[in-house]
Amino acid sequence: MARRSDLETSSKPRQAGRRSFLKGAVASAASAGVAAMPFSTVAAGQATSQLAQKSGIPSREFGNTGIRVPIMQLGTSQRLDQRYDKVMHRCFKAGVTWFDTALSYGWGSSHRAIKNFITQVDGRESLWLTSKSGSGSVSGLRKGVDEACEELGTDYLDLYLMHGIDDLRMLDPQYLALGEKLKAEGKTKFFGFSCHDGNVVELMNKAAKTGGIDAILFRYNFRRYGDLALNRAIDACHRAGIGLLAMKTQGSVPRDLEAVVDFRSEDFTLGQAKLKSVWADERIASIVSEMDSVKYVRENVAAARSEKSLTAEESHQLNQLAALTAHYACNGCNHLCESTLDRRVAIAEQLRYLMYYECYGKTDRARELYRTIPATAREFSDSELDQACRVCPQGIDIPARLRRAREVLA
Ligand code: SF4
Repeated sequence: MARRSDLETSSKPRQAGRRSFLKGAVASAASAGVAAMPFSTVAAGQATSQLAQKSGIPSREFGNTGIRVPIMQLGTSQRLDQRYDKVMHRCFKAGVTWFDTALSYGWGSSHRAIKNFITQVDGRESLWLTSKSGSGSVSGLRKGVDEACEELGTDYLDLYLMHGIDDLRMLDPQYLALGEKLKAEGKTKFFGFSCHDGNVVELMNKAAKTGGIDAILFRYNFRRYGDLALNRAIDACHRAGIGLLAMKTQGSVPRDLEAVVDFRSEDFTLGQAKLKSVWADERIASIVSEMDSVKYVRENVAAARSEKSLTAEESHQLNQLAALTAHYACNGCNHLCESTLDRRVAIAEQLRYLMYYECYGKTDRARELYRTIPATAREFSDSELDQACRVCPQGIDIPARLRRAREVLA
């Protein structure tokens, strides 16, 4: 799966709204007796970027944070070897020194594996660590950062994200002030959120206005380029100096369906081409890529180092693939389909776990996650999903896909 550039810090000024929010929040943290940040975010961020740069992984400005980010990071929600994880080591050696994890990944095992990994490399400073908490409360998020640090065996995170948010209230002042407080305390260098489903556009537009958000991790791939509202939201965030991180860049559907387009390229595999297509969008600072084998590390690193861009023919094939397999690729826009129902049916969530099962081979994890959905939110009748199917921009046969999810995951 799939980068380039130089190592200077950004001299771009922050947006006025953002700057005044930060000024106010830091001032209130100071007046609350919070200690000044104990490290230089720029210097520490540069250190990890330099490692990447030396190895040929390009970097880009990370919004207006003042640091550069390698264009590829390792996502770690897959099963990691607790003693010696080959994928992490191979990534590190190749210059992929930014790791993305979460309290929920592997029910904590991801954190523990990374903790052990830190002892096997050049120490904490040589790695960038992003972690996330799915708590919906300020106190829960506060607790989450401490838990994450403890599990990772570190005093601080580089980036702390509110995980998978879909509620605009998560960008209310108390949450943004928490981010500033955690930064002032030195618990995290940067603060932001990730979002999988629904409200992504609204969340991004709100974040661009409120300030206080350094980074957003969101679902973005070759299937989304025609989405005007999403593009405008990306523009707004980019202008506001928010560092944008893309995930789910493979836009996966079951492999036999991908074969509908016999992807041909002299330079790239299909997976690499999908990464390249995201990197072609310079508003995106970096891709978080989950690589569950050394083979994928090799493939993605090669794509990241390659200076070649996709040809028109390669882009055309990706567009064809997007069009021909749209009806199997849920975009996570659940505010469209789920809002047609009188009660909650977790359509996007079930389809996401079905994707984990069908496309990522994460059988156990997909089943575990599927079973966390309340039984009532998994039940449905074909007739009540009629309207949901009508509004689905992907043309997904939602009842058929939910039946498939039940068949393999329940
Ligand atoms: S089923 Fe369709 S409308 Fe619902 S989240 Fe998926 S792509 Fe969006």
